[in-house]
Amino acid sequence: MMQTIDVSVKPDFVSKYKDGYPLISKESIKNWDKVKEEGTLLNLLDEKGKFILKAYHGRQNKGYGWALSTDKDEKIDARYFSKKFKSAVEYRKDFYADESTTAFRVFNGEGDGVGGLTIDYFDGFYLLTWYSLGIYEFKEEILEALKNSVEYKGIYQKKRFDSKGKYLNEKDDFISGEKAEAPIIVKENGINFAVYLDDGAMVGVFLDQKDVRHTIRDKYAKGKTVLNTFSYTGAFSVAAALGGATKTTSVDLAKRSLPKTSEQFRVNKINADTQEIIVEDVFNYFKYAVKKKLLFDMVVLDPPSFARSKKRTFSASKDYVNLLKEAIQITKKGGIIIASTNSANFSMMTFSDFISKAFRELKGKYKIKERFTLPKDFKVLDSFKEGNYLKVVFIEKIK
Ligand code: SAH
Repeated sequence: MMQTIDVSVKPDFVSKYKDGYPLISKESIKNWDKVKEEGTLLNLLDEKGKFILKAYHGRQNKGYGWALSTDKDEKIDARYFSKKFKSAVEYRKDFYADESTTAFRVFNGEGDGVGGLTIDYFDGFYLLTWYSLGIYEFKEEILEALKNSVEYKGIYQKKRFDSKGKYLNEKDDFISGEKAEAPIIVKENGINFAVYLDDGAMVGVFLDQKDVRHTIRDKYAKGKTVLNTFSYTGAFSVAAALGGATKTTSVDLAKRSLPKTSEQFRVNKINADTQEIIVEDVFNYFKYAVKKKLLFDMVVLDPPSFARSKKRTFSASKDYVNLLKEAIQITKKGGIIIASTNSANFSMMTFSDFISKAFRELKGKYKIKERFTLPKDFKVLDSFKEGNYLKVVFIEKIK
């Protein structure tokens, strides 16, 4: 059991924490120098010494810890985590009941009451992602709680913190139960995805885009030519092809994207030879497309928030306007641009400004058809809006 220490919140921050803001910052605590080990439990007190909340210390790029409870006597043990997991499972009962969907998020960090930990479900397997050493210190209690709360085939983990030192020799992502096939085939609204639970940092599909894929397949794809940029394993291309797109073109810099994308087509019984999969820098591809006068009915943009390649760095907050301008030039009149970003650095409002700026600079016209943020299984708190990092806008190019 981790030690608990009292810390004082600076007066300016007290009401924020009382209103449910879950992320603990170093600046908000008067005597932060008392806090040493990650995983330490903190009782946050106001200037009069009155209890506000209990938190744990864990370092992420976002902050220094997360709130856990407003009950002074709450023990942060397996029973505590079981309660959280059971209500998280209850909140996703429609997902569990839906036979056409066997992959979704079961526990979304602070949105479900414990920041720094997510749990995803893949056809009976559970994948825990630890975002700090601090939360990882609760691994034993968390595993016991998970095993008590769900039926599982197997449990896997990903560590998203520097695991040097203490955990250096613990390389395996597999924790418990039976091992998963490599890959397992999961479903999302009837779309199949090949998922690898023990093959590097990512498993092959980003579950936060489920509503967007569903919408592309059911409402936008039929009879369309689709360019999917920053395509990774081609999940948007697969959704479009299943929705009746005449052809998809997937472009990604990473060499592995070619076999990975072919595989996603194959597990959906689409012949990958009828589709185009290109390993190339997206910005070079745009130049090529302009030169060849290629025009698409639909262009998907889903860049990483930040990327450095040999030739350039891309930052969504600085470069999205230019990216949009490139896409607008190769989209047919009446066509659709799907602009997506997972950058938590700017709001939907700012993203809308990027879109308006890009069209204005090209003297174009557009209409916004629909917008998406995180889907239901990625639960977010009203008191922590920045937890809803995803922004996706379907834009019709009028001129
Ligand atoms: N749209 C994908 C997820 C994209 S992840 C999906 O729906 O699953 C971001 C991808 O961008 C990574 O696969 C990375 O290899 C790729 N990438 C980063 N910079 C790139 C560039 N300049 N050109 C092409 N691909 C790039």
